[in-house]
Amino acid sequence: MSDTLPPGAMIGILGGGQLGRMLSVAAARLGLRCHIYDPAPSPPAAQVAERVTTAAWEDREALVAFAASVDVVTYEFENVPAASLDAIEAIRPIRPGRRALAVSQERIAEKDFLTSLGLVTAPYRRVITRDDLTQALAEIGAPAILKTTRLGYDGKGQARIRHLEEADHAFTAMAGAEAVLEGFVSFSREVSVIAARGLDGSVAAYDPGENVHREGILHTTRVPATLTSAQRSDAVLIAARILNALDYVGVMGVELFVTETGLLVNEIAPRVHNSGHWTQNGCVVDQFEQHIRAVAGWPLGDGHRIADVEMENLVGDDVQRVPELAQQANTALHLYGKSEARPGRKMGHVNRIIPAGR
Ligand code: AMP
Repeated sequence: MSDTLPPGAMIGILGGGQLGRMLSVAAARLGLRCHIYDPAPSPPAAQVAERVTTAAWEDREALVAFAASVDVVTYEFENVPAASLDAIEAIRPIRPGRRALAVSQERIAEKDFLTSLGLVTAPYRRVITRDDLTQALAEIGAPAILKTTRLGYDGKGQARIRHLEEADHAFTAMAGAEAVLEGFVSFSREVSVIAARGLDGSVAAYDPGENVHREGILHTTRVPATLTSAQRSDAVLIAARILNALDYVGVMGVELFVTETGLLVNEIAPRVHNSGHWTQNGCVVDQFEQHIRAVAGWPLGDGHRIADVEMENLVGDDVQRVPELAQQANTALHLYGKSEARPGRKMGHVNRIIPAGR
């Protein structure tokens, strides 16, 4: 098989949420087809992809049939179990590769990897027992954050320890799961870099975005971020170093804290990222197309920013604002086709183009 997938080729996507949906739309625009694998029936991507397999991550037979039906496999969800990936990898390439997944599935492996590259993270210690937590707090001090090492997202599996008296409560909140204590970073802002690396090793990064969270969930991303030009290039160089070290193929989200002493890496996501949704209306080639291009072995596209943009997530009942948002100027609506609006559930987003001078 040649490295470049021709139009008509089939891309397998593990996970059929909104990211898989937007990847499928981007693939369709390039004449490529998608096959979604998701344990849940009728995921958002099923409405737009050519094929859907509904089966458990442990269903080896379904995974093998899925892999055999596609030309390459990618994912929108980094917590796919290792055994499922083994079954697939024996049949088709997985892009981005296994190392990126292993590193991002476990917070301590991720921080060990980042610090091995000379990058700076929050101070961190592994916590399994209550005594580990006492020791870690003695070394790192409060305030700090205790996080489960696996399966955390959108602020889930996290407990803040503002004072030492909160340690017991935080430890109980981990419910016996292995955790990592992180020193609290006093940052002035949070930014992220969405970067891509092609099969040929070329790297392209989008302009960093500035992120604001509400209740642990991304609320807005604004570009351009308020950064000095030195910080801007530093952010992009950090992302490139990570992609090259992982021999990465695809798009990655790199979340950074801006502090007085420089940029710290919070976490990396080996996939398209919520803080990169602004690229859909701020660039000629958005993060979804860029990812599809990379995993399909195509050249990376032109991702330079052509507008100032603010992306706002529509979470839970925010979706009731759609009739009003649909009438606003300079506003692009992106809805995910989810029928039920539960609290904390991402239902869609809007990208607002900010006219020059505002
Ligand atoms: P995470 O799931 O690790 O991305 O954490 C979610 C959010 O919690 C981040 O975007 C930050 O706003 C905040 N946060 C996480 N870790 C730290 C830290 N070590 N210091 C300060 N804030 C943090």
